[in-house]
Amino acid sequence: MKCLDRVAVVTGGGRGIGQAIALTLAGEGADLAIWDVELEQARRVSDQAGQMDRRSSAYKVDVSDWDQVRAAAAKVLEEFGRIDILVNNAGICNKSSIEDLDPDDWDKVLAVNLKGTFLCSKAVMGAMKRQRWGRVINLGSVAGKVGGIAVAASYSASKAGVMCFTKSLAKELGPYGVTVNALAPGQIDTEMGRMLDGGSYERFLPQIPLGRVGQVEDVAQAALFLASEGAGFITGEIMDINGGLFMD
Ligand code: NDP
Repeated sequence: MKCLDRVAVVTGGGRGIGQAIALTLAGEGADLAIWDVELEQARRVSDQAGQMDRRSSAYKVDVSDWDQVRAAAAKVLEEFGRIDILVNNAGICNKSSIEDLDPDDWDKVLAVNLKGTFLCSKAVMGAMKRQRWGRVINLGSVAGKVGGIAVAASYSASKAGVMCFTKSLAKELGPYGVTVNALAPGQIDTEMGRMLDGGSYERFLPQIPLGRVGQVEDVAQAALFLASEGAGFITGEIMDINGGLFMD
C-alpha cells in the first residue's frame, strides 16, 4: 500500500482525471477529501472510495474562491487531522482564437487553473510544513509547453503558469520535506479532451508515437508514483504523460 493512511485532497475530483487519481490513491490506502464545484459528482466518487473501505468526504468548493478554499481546508483538517497529499487537478478550458477570446473568459480560465492552484496550495501548505511531510501534485499540460493549438491561449498560458508555480512552491517547501511536482498530460480521453475535437482525436493520433490517446489511468499511475514514499527525492519536476507527442 503506497499511500496507507495518507490524507489526500483532490480538486476537481468528481470526474475525469481527478476521479481516476482519487480512486487510485484510495486503492493504495489513502483517505480522500474530494473537492468539486459539483457536490453530487464529488459525493459519487467519495462513495466509491467508501466502498473501498477508505474514509472519504465530499466538499463543494470553487477553487478560484479563497473563502471557500480556506474553509474547506479547515474542515478537512478538522475531520481528518492532517493533509498529506494535494492534487491540484480542477481545470477548465476553451477553444477560442486569441482574436475572438472574450477578456472575461481569459480571466475565468486563469482564475480556476492558475489562481486555484495557488489558493489550494496556500491553504494546505501550513499543515504540510508542520507535518514535515507532504506531496503537492499539479496538473500542467503539454499545451503549457508548446502554446495553444487545440486549446485557447488562456489555457496554455494558465498551464505554463502552473508549471512555473510548481517550481517556486517546490523551492519554498523543500526545506520542510514537502515535494511539489507537476504532470503534463498530452491528449487524455475525458470530457475535456473530447470537447476539443469531438472525440475523434484525428489531429493528434498521427503525432503520437505510442499510437493512442491517453487514458485517465495513465495520469493516475503517474500521480500515485509522485505521491509515494519512493518519489521523495523528486521535486520541481514536470512529468510528461503524452505517449511521445512532445519530447523535451
Ligand atoms: P474534466 O473537465 O473532465 O474535469 C474537470 C473537473 O474539475 C470537473 O469535475 C469539474 O467540475 C471540476 N472543476 C471545474 N472548475 C472547477 C472549480 N472552479 N473548482 C473546483 N472544481 C472545478 O477535465 P479533465 O479530467 O480532462 O482534466 C483534469 C485536469 O487535467 C485539468 O486541470 C486539465 O486542464 C488537465 N489536463 C487535461 C488534459 C486532457 O486531455 N483531458 C490534458 C492536459 C491537462 P464540473 O464537472 O462541474 O465542470
